[in-house]
Amino acid sequence: MVIAIDGPAGAGKSTVARAVAQRLGFTYLDSGAMYRAVGLALLERGGAASEVAAALEIELGERVLADGRDVTEAIRAPEVSEAASKVATNQAVRAELVAKQRALLAGGDWVAEGRDIGTVVAPDAELKVFLVADPAERARRRAAELGVPAETVLRDQALRDAQDTSREHSPLRPAAGSVELDTTGLTIDQVVDRVVDLAAARRA
Ligand code: C5P
Repeated sequence: MVIAIDGPAGAGKSTVARAVAQRLGFTYLDSGAMYRAVGLALLERGGAASEVAAALEIELGERVLADGRDVTEAIRAPEVSEAASKVATNQAVRAELVAKQRALLAGGDWVAEGRDIGTVVAPDAELKVFLVADPAERARRRAAELGVPAETVLRDQALRDAQDTSREHSPLRPAAGSVELDTTGLTIDQVVDRVVDLAAARRA
């Protein structure tokens, strides 16, 4: 079974997807980490984005490895978020990473998280969830995570939201048949319970 969880930055996707995967014994796929790994590689050594995306060996798990190097922390830097969002507008890069994601999802049970999982990567996923939350709340959550002021996060977040929703290729939008879940004011556990319940209903 594949559970697709999409939505804007800070809506709680990573935390929720990780927890749902753990509860159900599924494997977690953080597709954003792939765009981040490509963004980091481009910042560090430049080159043609599509070639970097095709050549880069990305391994996802407890740690994120790029060509064998542990980049788990490095890919979370704000400049890498921006680089990832920028490189994610490149259709050739998207095609490379979508192919890698589909190959992973072809076997076993997954909770896959990103922007285009339900629309492009796995449109046939048994459950598609679109997580949303009030922008100020999203910025507060991210700021607490990163230990930086909420205003800075809010500005970067607005820029990334605009880039992600207005890009020509695979813009962020709810997939057909997805369940929209507003996480504003909900605890992580409440959101996780809801997704697990929806998954149980789809499996029945
Ligand atoms: O989810 P995360 O914030 O780590 O993703 C980083 C960036 O990668 C996003 O801003 C988005 O532009 C891009 N992304 C994407 N499609 C995905 C996952 C992430 O375009 N499936």
